[in-house]
Amino acid sequence: MDADTMQAVRVERTGGPEVLDVQQVAVPEPGPGELLVKVSATGVNYIETYQREGIYPMDLPYTPGSEGAGEVVALGEGVTEFSEGDYVATAAGKGFYAEYAIVPAEAAVEVNVTLVEARIAAAAMLQGMTAHYLTHSTFPLKEGHTMLIHAAAGGVGLLVCQMAKMLGARVIGTAGSEEKAELAKGAGADEVILYREVDFAEEVRRLTDGEGVDVVYDSVGKDTFYKSLDCLKVRGTLVLFGASSGPVPPVDLQILNQKGGLYVTRPALGQYTRDREELLWRAGNVLSWIGNGTLDVRIGGTYPLSEARAAHEDLQGRRTTGKLLLLPEV
Ligand code: NDP
Repeated sequence: MDADTMQAVRVERTGGPEVLDVQQVAVPEPGPGELLVKVSATGVNYIETYQREGIYPMDLPYTPGSEGAGEVVALGEGVTEFSEGDYVATAAGKGFYAEYAIVPAEAAVEVNVTLVEARIAAAAMLQGMTAHYLTHSTFPLKEGHTMLIHAAAGGVGLLVCQMAKMLGARVIGTAGSEEKAELAKGAGADEVILYREVDFAEEVRRLTDGEGVDVVYDSVGKDTFYKSLDCLKVRGTLVLFGASSGPVPPVDLQILNQKGGLYVTRPALGQYTRDREELLWRAGNVLSWIGNGTLDVRIGGTYPLSEARAAHEDLQGRRTTGKLLLLPEV
């Protein structure tokens, strides 16, 4: 350890991006079963906006950030699987909007230093494992399936497109601009609907000869939920996995009957990384596909830690593509 204090983003009250405040604070100490990591890069995720706004309540004050990568610089009691000097990545760390962060050893994955230096390790864990469970487990895609993914050029979206193609599905995406549509096509999307120009549900019907798709992966939430149901075939599945436009208000379940005996699920990553074996399977797949060039992780923007506010503004302002990272300034 080479420092007692560090720069960290602190949230003392809920609110807009302005409540993300950079402060000098004590470097945390790893408790039993934990690692202290010197952060190389931090992944920015939508969940941090929900926490900041109070949609997902947090104990205040706190330092946001669960995803990142870096070097292990201290070990808590009882840690045997890792050593100082190892490079690790995680989707379930504590306080990654900082120069040092805590990682429970059970949530850490050892990674190659070149992936850490290229910042890919920090960018791939949370969204990569999310795309993995959505396409491989929540609704396991197979050849012959047709699927719809909203925000196809987003962080999760670009990875879902690529994994769905690996599994042989036909991929229809939605995107907010031509530039985003091109990125999604580059990630394998067969068709991309510009939803600002056309009604996406009508367009999905047209593209599927009136039948609808087997599954919709919907992370937009409030603005898209009902129209996403309209995109499904009889007995199709809506996987609602986010709320970028806001949470979906209470739903009358009778609508699932009226629209074709539909299924709806609302999963989260924690339910699909329930033990070490499942975590290592998903992370191992994602990291090995990156290593052999099968999976491309697009880093759409990097921000110094002191500009975490701008990262949140851009993410919520729909101005970003791919993954956003925060980088410590030392
Ligand atoms: P994205 O990169 O997908 O960014 C959000 C995108 O959503 C925007 O760029 C925009 O794309 C689209 N969008 C449509 N409507 C809105 C709106 N009203 N406000 C903001 N954005 C809108 O973000 P992430 O990849 O980080 O996350 C995607 C979603 O996945 C989030 O909702 C997140 O909560 C969820 N998630 C869920 C997980 C889970 O396990 N359940 C895990 C990880 C993420 P466009 O311009 O093309 O419409």
